[in-house]
Amino acid sequence: MELSTAKPYCPSLTTYRRRPTVEVHIGDLPLGSMHPIRVQSMTTADTMDTQAVVQECIRLIEAGCEYVRITAPSIKEAENLANIKKELRRRGYTTPLIADIHFTPNAAELAARIVEKVRINPGNYADKKRFEIIEYTDAAYEAELERIRKKFIPLVKICKEYGTAMRIGTNHGSLSDRIMSRYGDTPLGMVESALEFLRICEEFDYHNIVLSMKASNPQVMVQAYRLLVQKMEEEGMQPYPLHLGVTEAGDGEDGRIKSAMGIGALLEDGLGDTIRVSLTEDPVEEIPVAKALAERYHKRARTQEAPLPEVIRLTYNPFAYQRRHSRPVLSVGGEQVPRVIADYSHFTNIEPADLKPIGHYYLPATDKWHMTDDGADFVYLGRQAVPFMLPNGLKAIQDYEVWKDEPESPHVFPLITFSRWQQEDCRLHTRCNFVRLSVDELLQADNTARFHDGNIVLVLHTGRAHAMPALRRAFLFLMEQDIRVPVVVERRYNEAWEQSILYASTDIGGLLLDGMGDGVFLRPAVEDKDKAAKLLELKQLNQLAFGILQASRTRTTKTEYIACPSCGRTLFDLQETTAMIRRHTEHLKGVKIGIMGCIVNGPGEMADADYGYVGSGKGKITLYRGKEVVRRNVPSEEAVQALIELIREDGRWIEPPAPVE
Ligand code: SF4
Repeated sequence: MELSTAKPYCPSLTTYRRRPTVEVHIGDLPLGSMHPIRVQSMTTADTMDTQAVVQECIRLIEAGCEYVRITAPSIKEAENLANIKKELRRRGYTTPLIADIHFTPNAAELAARIVEKVRINPGNYADKKRFEIIEYTDAAYEAELERIRKKFIPLVKICKEYGTAMRIGTNHGSLSDRIMSRYGDTPLGMVESALEFLRICEEFDYHNIVLSMKASNPQVMVQAYRLLVQKMEEEGMQPYPLHLGVTEAGDGEDGRIKSAMGIGALLEDGLGDTIRVSLTEDPVEEIPVAKALAERYHKRARTQEAPLPEVIRLTYNPFAYQRRHSRPVLSVGGEQVPRVIADYSHFTNIEPADLKPIGHYYLPATDKWHMTDDGADFVYLGRQAVPFMLPNGLKAIQDYEVWKDEPESPHVFPLITFSRWQQEDCRLHTRCNFVRLSVDELLQADNTARFHDGNIVLVLHTGRAHAMPALRRAFLFLMEQDIRVPVVVERRYNEAWEQSILYASTDIGGLLLDGMGDGVFLRPAVEDKDKAAKLLELKQLNQLAFGILQASRTRTTKTEYIACPSCGRTLFDLQETTAMIRRHTEHLKGVKIGIMGCIVNGPGEMADADYGYVGSGKGKITLYRGKEVVRRNVPSEEAVQALIELIREDGRWIEPPAPVE
């Protein structure tokens, strides 16, 4: 692989260290690297309904939310922030409030005099979005920048005068036509969009600033934040704190996986000072997720581990996705999608029905196996014999000590410890051998020549607390020596399930976002359980593994929903509508559907969705194909059917499969 000369974008790729930032004053709760990672969220009630917003703020604050954001679409909502703030203070809540502004500088200028922080979106602060591609000459571009200055400088001056903080919050998908025309819908475009505004702030010596680079695609989001840090450094700007978030992450487990992947991957590298997890759920549900993510790094800062070898040169580009080159071994590695291994080593007497949780169904009536899109690729049996003829599409892995005494089968492969594999007399399968080793074993290996060829797949694990960078260091070690052996990442989490989802998404997802990993092997928590509990856990782990692959966009097995979290602009019940659309479309593998609460921001923010279902008035939905409006103001009771028709017209509709008993 071509060695990249890109500079590191974070304090260390191997030791946990927060990126040092300036301190930003937001009411009486300052933000920055010298403070804990702060948790925030946003209200969904109509901003004009003071009591409802106050109630929601209190629920959020009591759940642990440290800053509360409230939308201010126009002057009248901005004005009402004063009543909301007054009522909260009267009730003894001093939590800083943030006004969320899109398109309306006059609302921002008023809000900045009332609340502790304003968030502006540089994509629409001074621009109306028309989705036009315009060729700008340098002079025309400069004239545009001058126009922005005129609109933005008054806000900077007010913030400075009132001690109000500001977030310059870029969203992938709501970039201005000007930025889109010059940079495209890219991480660089996102960064430049923020820098245009940031340069004006610096010119006026205003530094009470936080920045964000959100996207619904964790890959784009992570690249954009990294690039932002690097560009600020290159321009000699102050190190402003970062607000992290994955927008429109959706709901349930998928929403948590996407959020943890994007946010966690950055926190691992010490980037990020405040986080908002955007779920299409009651915003109170976001708080424990955000707290669990932040808390992991508060603990991390106190954990001492043996140092990993420093990374001298980067062997991958952290600003653009490229999969690590590996040679294909059987169905693992090369250009093939990352594989999933399910762990049955703690079972006794595996029966055909036990494979159902990992997507393989035996139908006795037809004596046939059926496999779902999220059917695991390998089953790890430990020391057990292969219990019956496995379905096509599912191969077995057995511990070497058992496997070596059996005749070779094209469906059963050994898992060999690293030390055993190094011995002369180790018998090998002619097609594929899984060699299990730890990060430290790999990094300390005296002789790596044997990794260069042979039919081996590494199963890489680590007991280190700072696991993702340790695993990444092992991948970089292989890349430095151009060793193209495929690697499956093995992890086991003994935390509560909700936490395990977040940790696995961060650790494995963080690697996949940088193209590292040819497979996922999630092992059950170590604890005694009955068979029903074991089967349930296997199902959860299998779904989690496929969810991580989907969110990292490395293997698509289901429909993707890009659903906004809702706010005071929302025109329909997002949770209910998302659930209804999901019920009708969840079998449409690979189709991306945006579900957006308002037409003001929705179309921009649904990024690369194939179809959009966007609230355009009370009881009215506008449907999009990509960015193009195809039906306006469809009554909401007809809108799901109209969406299905649209997908059908495009030849992408398939009938849902009959349920398998
Ligand atoms: S798209 Fe959703 S979260 Fe964004 S402004 Fe509209 S309703 Fe609010």
